Amino acid sequence: MWDWLRAKRQTPIPDALWLPLLARHRFLAELPAPDQLYLRELSRQFLAQKEFHGAHGLQISDSMALAIAAQACLPLLYLPRKATRWQPGGLGWYGDFVGINVYPGEVLAGRESVDDAGVVHRYREALLGEAMEGGPVVLSWVDVAHADASAAQGTNLVIHEFAHKIAMQGGLADDAELGYCPPLPPGFLGSRSARAAVAAWYALLQPAYEGFREQVIIAERFSGAPTWLDPYAAEAMDEFFAVACEAYWVQRARFAQEFPALMPLMDGFFRPGSAVNL
Ligand SMILES: [Zn+2]
Repeated sequence: MWDWLRAKRQTPIPDALWLPLLARHRFLAELPAPDQLYLRELSRQFLAQKEFHGAHGLQISDSMALAIAAQACLPLLYLPRKATRWQPGGLGWYGDFVGINVYPGEVLAGRESVDDAGVVHRYREALLGEAMEGGPVVLSWVDVAHADASAAQGTNLVIHEFAHKIAMQGGLADDAELGYCPPLPPGFLGSRSARAAVAAWYALLQPAYEGFREQVIIAERFSGAPTWLDPYAAEAMDEFFAVACEAYWVQRARFAQEFPALMPLMDGFFRPGSAVNL
């Protein structure tokens, strides 16, 4: 378990681990060779910096840790490699935490809420994963293990949780209802300042989110066509962004068909080198 990682964190990831990873994840194997090379290097750095913990006796093997690392690093592939005044560079996006807690199956999380009468309710909620600001990422291995098959539906648990981490780097919007916005450089979507970039972000994300919520309501209450994107994305704008990131990274063509209005936001953020400003 986790032998290569423990012993040789400073050496490149060996073919014996990397090639089977590509064979098991078609959405990684389809990347152009130079992109795979950088993903391999990002994954090495990720494995050197992060600590994996298996819960309930789950043993984390090298290939399990690498599968998580490579998928976590995929959204960083085209972001600036060096930090700028505006944004972290490379793995700096994930610099606020070290731990990755992997559960064999669903995670039962203790929750507490206070109702209008001031009564505290404690309950347990089944989760596939979780990302907390400044805290560890929690993942359910059974879901991570099915990443290749679930990519056909445009879903990916690891990308979902790490998309939350990326957004959290920018902090909450002034209006907390809007959720997190990743740090954006001036020039994003043609904006003239970092502040205008945030406004441009929400000007695209919010209407797409509201349109999606309407589709979910129509599907659920009026027997409309089911949405392609997981209806969970209608829970909050943070969830909409994280679910959209899953689809963008593993089913880009279908995502572009479903959400053409979001492509400038996603390409502008995740592929700043190739994006065309509006
Ligand atoms: Zn989420």
